[in-house]
Amino acid sequence: MPKVIRGMKDILPDEVSRWQKIESASRDVFRLFGYRQIRTPALEETALFVKSIGGETDIVQKEMFSFRDRGERDVSLRPEGTAPIVRAYLEASLHKTSPFQKLYYLGAMFRAERPQAGRMRQFHQIGAEAIGSPDPAIDAEIIALEARILDSCGIKDYILRINNLGCKDDKKRLSRTLKDALTDKKAMLCDDCKRRLAINPLRVIDCKKDNCRDALRGTLKNIKFLCEGCIGHFDSVKALLDILRIKYLLDPYIVRGLDYYTRTVFEVSHSRLARGQDAVGAGGRYDNLISDMGGPELGACGFALGIERMIMAMGEGASDFGGGEAYITAYIAAVGEAAHKRGFGILNDLRSAGIACDMDYEAKSLKAQMRSADKSKARFAIIIGDEELASGEAVVRNMATKEQRRVKLEDIVSSIGTPCHD
Ligand SMILES: [Zn+2]
Ligand SMILES: [Zn+2]
Repeated sequence: MPKVIRGMKDILPDEVSRWQKIESASRDVFRLFGYRQIRTPALEETALFVKSIGGETDIVQKEMFSFRDRGERDVSLRPEGTAPIVRAYLEASLHKTSPFQKLYYLGAMFRAERPQAGRMRQFHQIGAEAIGSPDPAIDAEIIALEARILDSCGIKDYILRINNLGCKDDKKRLSRTLKDALTDKKAMLCDDCKRRLAINPLRVIDCKKDNCRDALRGTLKNIKFLCEGCIGHFDSVKALLDILRIKYLLDPYIVRGLDYYTRTVFEVSHSRLARGQDAVGAGGRYDNLISDMGGPELGACGFALGIERMIMAMGEGASDFGGGEAYITAYIAAVGEAAHKRGFGILNDLRSAGIACDMDYEAKSLKAQMRSADKSKARFAIIIGDEELASGEAVVRNMATKEQRRVKLEDIVSSIGTPCHD
């Protein structure tokens, strides 16, 4: 029998209601904050990600599903949402209608990492990008938006860590300082980090290997690399977060494993997730990405939440968030061919009236059909047999109270649809 590919997962009907609730709660929050949805393809040119995320990042080096297509083009399944959205923003010249755009997305991302709890090769993200403004209020709004989505999904006790990476020049200074500090300890570093030290020292901070982490210890504390503008920007972001009463920790080790970030970066973690991969969401400002990709000089900021991780952070206690609700309003139990035909017509009339309903398609006994009605969590069962057809009245049973009454076949839709039945 064929099996699902390693690192990929089916989301079965029993789990899917939780997904739908997360998605719809997120959409409501995005609407509240004035963000509009954008959908980009799963497949992009590989060069897009190499240029934007950075050639020395783990994502580009080890984790992309990249291949040469039949037309000899190098393509990759998207490992993240920001670069494709900036590409679409520039390609559609959205900046010409209005430079400032607030966009959100929901979708599958792909990374060929070693599969483990909370880390799938196809995973799903909810994210937002506010493109076109250098205002620190946008950094604060993006963080508030992410927090509001977590709150609205009932996720509590998450920890927000923020850091200031500074502008391009500041990052260069940080890179140089880090290189100097680590050159003495080069022997401790893994082979990847030895190479990174020469090409892109900041990426050493992403390394999960113990030796590299030991070598890094203490190196980032008290480094002065930020310019006045970036210090002022971050001070404003912090002051705005205080106004919004959003709690945060300052963490100089939050650098995010992507080259395009500048100034504010942040991560939201949760103790229900395993150490080292406890991030439920993350994001930051990327003030050079748009111009680096050939567009105008525009500031931007965004975040992404992992849906699989959000579900883990919810824990078992969040059973009220998804599952358990009534699936349909009415179940038609029809016995006999003629009754089944008439019932099928009523089914269609109910659906046309916007009433969710279903019926038996396996010619089961009345008893078995009533069990199906029960299982379907329908509020009403509509029972039709030869006798009901002859009298022109169906039996409508309230599944909770067991109360039954006879309703004319032509009145069923209005009878089920009126609130007096509740
Ligand atoms: Zn700066
Ligand atoms: Zn390393």
